[in-house]
Amino acid sequence: ATPTAVMVATGKGASQGVLIKGGDALEKAYKVKTVVFDKTGTLTVGKPVVVSAVLFSSFSMEEFCDMATAAEANSEHPIAKAVVEHAKRIRQKIGSSTEHVAEAKDFEVHTGAGVSGKVGEKMVLVGNKRLMQASNVTVGTEVENYISENERLARTCVLVSIDGKIAGAFAVTDPVKPEAERVISFLHSMGISAIMVTGDNWATAAAIAKEVGIKKVFAETDPMGKADRIKDLQGKGMTVAMVGDGINDSPALVAADVGMAIGAGTDVAIEAADIVLIKSNLEDVVTAIDLSRKTILRIR
Ligand code: ADP
Ligand code: MG
Repeated sequence: ATPTAVMVATGKGASQGVLIKGGDALEKAYKVKTVVFDKTGTLTVGKPVVVSAVLFSSFSMEEFCDMATAAEANSEHPIAKAVVEHAKRIRQKIGSSTEHVAEAKDFEVHTGAGVSGKVGEKMVLVGNKRLMQASNVTVGTEVENYISENERLARTCVLVSIDGKIAGAFAVTDPVKPEAERVISFLHSMGISAIMVTGDNWATAAAIAKEVGIKKVFAETDPMGKADRIKDLQGKGMTVAMVGDGINDSPALVAADVGMAIGAGTDVAIEAADIVLIKSNLEDVVTAIDLSRKTILRIR
């Protein structure tokens, strides 16, 4: 594209909240045949809510929630915020103080799996089944049943172990964005395929993919794994766009031919991206590709 055409297009994009970082991004967006979407915070609203809590031990619900909160207190993960909020509601309901709660000592983040820390003398793990298995915590049939019931409903289960035993679990739900399905179907009509990548488990990922009309899913991938999936697709000769909110997907945004950061995301993502969608609306994925097509086709 000529410098003038690029200027016109970036100006037009900017007025619609689509920040295109230069002519190269525009040229590549024109060739995109595959768009890979992160799940949490990109296809979904990204504000999960606890919709069920269950005990698998003799702790009271309050004790259980307090220990989970202590472990999650210093986590930035949206699931951690959901757990902390839920615990607060439980305390309000039973009339306990909501100002409180110890923070865990020796707090550790297990990327794409959960958190751990010591609450008093107790070792607390909060996270998915992989985290429990990696720490030799047995996940029994009762717990397995709770997990599969909820995953079928597109919910993510958060397991809590205290001193090596599953003490209880939460199920969180993170609704899909209202425009997600429409955008995916519009991309298909443009001859572009849509794929989902997520660190979340296969069953939940598949349920969400079905809701939005995505047929190909890569689940249980860590941040580098997300980038590797992008490189695999490029290896097959595809020009790939990656859309993410940045929590865990900066390497994938960099690896993609066109990295698109959803605006409410992190600074790191905005840095890593070629295009920033400042309204956080998935419709703007189409706006960006459409703008590039119009720009390139006009001048050729
Ligand atoms: P995504 O790719 O969907 O953004 P992540 O890679 O951040 O997901 O996390 C993958 C999974 O790890 C989550 O679905 C959740 O099961 C678990 N997990 C990660 N961090 C936490 C946390 N702080 N508390 C509980 N579970 C967590
Ligand atoms: Mg995300």
